[in-house]
Amino acid sequence: MQAINHAVTALILKKTFPEAPLLGLILTTEAVEYLWVGLNIVGLEKTDIGPEMQSVSDVHLVHMPFSHSVGTSVILAAVLGLIVFWHGGKAAKAIALALSLGVFSHIVLDLIVHAPDIAVFPFFNPSKLGTGLYTNQPLLALALETVWGILCWWIFRGSWGLLALIVTLEITALPLYSNMINAGESLLTGQDTIFALVILAQMITTTALVWLFARKRTEAQPNGNAAVIE
Ligand SMILES: [Zn+2]
Repeated sequence: MQAINHAVTALILKKTFPEAPLLGLILTTEAVEYLWVGLNIVGLEKTDIGPEMQSVSDVHLVHMPFSHSVGTSVILAAVLGLIVFWHGGKAAKAIALALSLGVFSHIVLDLIVHAPDIAVFPFFNPSKLGTGLYTNQPLLALALETVWGILCWWIFRGSWGLLALIVTLEITALPLYSNMINAGESLLTGQDTIFALVILAQMITTTALVWLFARKRTEAQPNGNAAVIE
């Protein structure tokens, strides 16, 4: 799932756990992907792009047992939650739970759209998991991701600016989800490390933008005025 649709998950968590820091929540939703970028760069995980990069269906995540497995996601989420909980402080329990859910949300959302490339546990993968939408129906995957992005915004009661950001990022991702529309993706053919760096740049940019646009949201008050809530 593309960066924006992981990041918007943090909006629901922020709405549910107002004590949790928004930036921290956004970062946790992408923690698994940051790990994937790092492991691809050092060569412990492998991505094959080809024979010609036209859309996500040409990105083959052939080896990613550590970053993207259900088991490691549970462990990562639990470890982070326990560290935050032990660190203590006001509302530590709620914040720990929110951050853990943020980490675990990543693999759940990926399972909905990925090719069957997600192991249950590292090296325990008699059959890998994933609906296969990225391979068979990438445009349907984008449609689902867009619905998810807007749903998160609606639950959060975000600003119109935040909605515009979400929709703009979904639309600009169209060439990546369509074989018919090309905007230079073919340059990434065979460039798996460059691809990981592009994803890293996309995540950092998206994190900054979502945090900026969601940091303040305007909610209508009973007296008819609007109040800015941080
Ligand atoms: Zn992922």
